[in-house]
Amino acid sequence: MSKDGLASLPGCTGGETVSLTPNHSGSAQEVMCPVAVPEAAGDFTSAPVSASMQHADDQEPMSTLPRIITLIVVVTPLVGLLAAMILTWNNGFDWVQLGLLTGMYIATGLGVTIGYHRFFTHRSFDTSRVMQGILAILGSMSVEGPVIRWTAFHRRHHQHSDCDEDPHTPHLHGSGFLNMTRGFFRAHVGWMFEPTSKKMMSYVPDLRKDKFIRTMSMLFPLWVLLGLLIPAVLGGVLTLSWSGAMLGFLWGGLVRILLVHHVTWSINSVCHIWGTRPFRSHDLSRNNAIFGVLGFGEGWHNNHHAFPTSARHGLRWWELDTSYIIIWLMSRVGLAWNVRVPGSDRIAAKRQYEKK
Ligand SMILES: [Zn+2]
Ligand SMILES: [Zn+2]
Repeated sequence: MSKDGLASLPGCTGGETVSLTPNHSGSAQEVMCPVAVPEAAGDFTSAPVSASMQHADDQEPMSTLPRIITLIVVVTPLVGLLAAMILTWNNGFDWVQLGLLTGMYIATGLGVTIGYHRFFTHRSFDTSRVMQGILAILGSMSVEGPVIRWTAFHRRHHQHSDCDEDPHTPHLHGSGFLNMTRGFFRAHVGWMFEPTSKKMMSYVPDLRKDKFIRTMSMLFPLWVLLGLLIPAVLGGVLTLSWSGAMLGFLWGGLVRILLVHHVTWSINSVCHIWGTRPFRSHDLSRNNAIFGVLGFGEGWHNNHHAFPTSARHGLRWWELDTSYIIIWLMSRVGLAWNVRVPGSDRIAAKRQYEKK
């Protein structure tokens, strides 16, 4: 991969130790980060902002035209799908299919955001074995790979964000429309086709030594099948017809997978290109309101890179974070505990556009 652009910046060199998971229950994982990120070590209370973080301010964002093209490419198919739903209403798509599509989208999308991301990757809260199993199954139904592989890729992304060894940065592919398109494709979906190397698996020693998680990860094909069977069976039972089962499979299975894929993948691609950067971080992560809503709070991606182990990504009252609302509700009924959120002093210390 080309090392032009960001790789030559100070923020993409160096090597200070940082943890992407908090130190608790022996599940913490120490990794090397390009620059110091004190909050990533789970210390939300005392660490000063590193001077090296400020190099992110010097990084060159993608120019306006590719950003507009990216937005059009991502949003247009979603508008097309919405038009198809309206045009086929009562002719292959009605309330039953809409319910199955919405229900399966929410369940499996939250499996990725709360399960794969906030629990397995960052350990931003603790939960029971039963809940761990449910979250792993729901995340697997999204068909983004087994939980251990997904976690390994995402931890590596945080360690090398927008630098040379980032498995899915949209940057570093050179200038010009074709190179930028290549970068966007790799960030969006290309990384899914890359092999899981031994080096990649070194990011997940905590998950690999856990027999329960290993088993859940190994049974990935079974969970995928289950994610297709559930809407098919429900569609058949609710309409008492084979055609209802087929339509349930189509809308609650295949179309739902398409939607979850593109929304969650857009966090890797769109949210490193298009949006705002209220916090200092050593990368080009951005807050994007569209994917903040569609992605159950994951679109507040600059917030997340600034505070990786926080269970809450939407840090301001208007930044809707459905995943955090559910984690908070889980904590109220005893299904989650040790929920990690940065203190207001740490949030203020990292904010880039503070009013004096
Ligand atoms: Zn990112
Ligand atoms: Zn993350």
